[in-house]
This record gives sequence, structure tokens and C-alpha cells, in this order.
Amino acid sequence: MYCRKCGKQIDDEAVICIYCGVAVNPDFNKKTMANTDPLAKSKLAAGLFGIFLGAFGIHNFYLGFTNKALAQLLLTVVGWIFFGLGPIVASIWGLIEGIMILTGSINQDSTGRALKD
Ligand SMILES: [Zn+2]
Repeated sequence: MYCRKCGKQIDDEAVICIYCGVAVNPDFNKKTMANTDPLAKSKLAAGLFGIFLGAFGIHNFYLGFTNKALAQLLLTVVGWIFFGLGPIVASIWGLIEGIMILTGSINQDSTGRALKD
């Protein structure tokens, strides 16, 4: 591959360009840093929370998306009383987000910090 800044050919596995020092793949760097960042949230934990506890918004509370978490929690708690369908909708919503987290479609928390593996 070629460095996007200086255009010199560099190793395909390279993380930074050895000629100009620019980060070749910012996403990769972010991911690598997340795995050493003590504050980074766990992708596996977030994904499993979504799949099993998504109806209560636990995965979104965990990732800091409090408004979305509260919406899911209210949908389950209030939706149960009034419609019965609320918890089902919230469960499916959480399940989909859990899968998105595990597959990397959702890959950061509310502060923009990448999730660690
Ligand atoms: Zn370069």
C-alpha cells in the first residue's frame, strides 16, 4: 500500500509510515489503543448486555448512551403496563444493538472511545 500523506510505498502491515510518520490506518490505531486503555469499555460485555439485557438498556448505560438506555428501559417498564409490546420491541432493539456491537457496527462509547476486544 501507499502512504496517503507522502505517497511512498510502505509495508501492507504498517501502522505508521516510516517516511513521514503519519498514522496509516487511524481506525486500526484507535482499536490498538483501546486494547491498552484502562477506561475502554469491553466490546464483548457490551454486546452480551445488549443481547441478554437489551430490553433494560443495560448495554447503552454501560457505553454511556444514557438517553437511549432510558428510552429502552421505559419502553420495557411503561410499555409493559400499557401495551405489552414494549418489552418485545425493546428486547429486539437491544438484541440488534448487541449484535451490532459484537460485529463492530457500533464500535465506540458515548465519549468516542473505541471499545476493546
Ligand atoms: Zn508517509
